[in-house]
Amino acid sequence: MQLKTHMDYQTICRRVEATGMSCRGGFHPTQADQMPAAGQTVIIIGNSGASFWQRFRRGENPGDDPLEDWTRAELTSAANDLGAAVLFPFDGPPYHPIMQWAKKAEAVFPSLYGPLIHPEYGLWHAYRGVLVFADNFDLPAGNPAPNPCITCVDQPCLNTCPVDAVSTGTFNRDACAGYLGSAEGRNCLELGCAARRACPIGAAHLYSADQRHFHMRAFLDNYRRT
Ligand code: SF4
Ligand code: SF4
Repeated sequence: MQLKTHMDYQTICRRVEATGMSCRGGFHPTQADQMPAAGQTVIIIGNSGASFWQRFRRGENPGDDPLEDWTRAELTSAANDLGAAVLFPFDGPPYHPIMQWAKKAEAVFPSLYGPLIHPEYGLWHAYRGVLVFADNFDLPAGNPAPNPCITCVDQPCLNTCPVDAVSTGTFNRDACAGYLGSAEGRNCLELGCAARRACPIGAAHLYSADQRHFHMRAFLDNYRRT
């Protein structure tokens, strides 16, 4: 693909926001970043809060992986409009090191719960794609916020799970899925992971009950398929 030049961060963000997703910072890649698409500026795309979910839910979205299909369609369209290449976290194996790239693009940190934690969104966010531009353009200054886990005294994410599936740096997938599939696990299945909900960071960005249930259902279905 012939990539366009003379792009700027604000224009990209406006186009991405039309999908319900948002720009989550960017960086100028070096060889060490192992970018599979040639380009001089990388923008990370993610979601937080409800706008993305409302837009996804308005579509028909059939298929085994409706969220992946929707994400691919939306971001491919945006990338075509912007003259960018697009990469997805779910394409693989091998998978792109999007978590490493995200840490270069904005202030996110490994959490005691497991996934990257954002100082504002807490655990209620995700990365959905990467746009790669041929042009080298300016990026906004990063937010130098610290890792919230460092000052979290009670660490409720580690002592809330009823089957102790969550501990520092590890996740017992079998224990979690077993509980979710049981009658006792309906609370987690319907309302979302109790350990994740116990985290005090980013409460204003809590996913809707519908979205939390969707993700838990998808996790359980995927577990049973593999
Ligand atoms: S509950 Fe505390 S330790 Fe656990 S992820 Fe949230 S901020 Fe970090
Ligand atoms: S979904 Fe429930 S069982 Fe699974 S890790 Fe979270 S709290 Fe534990």
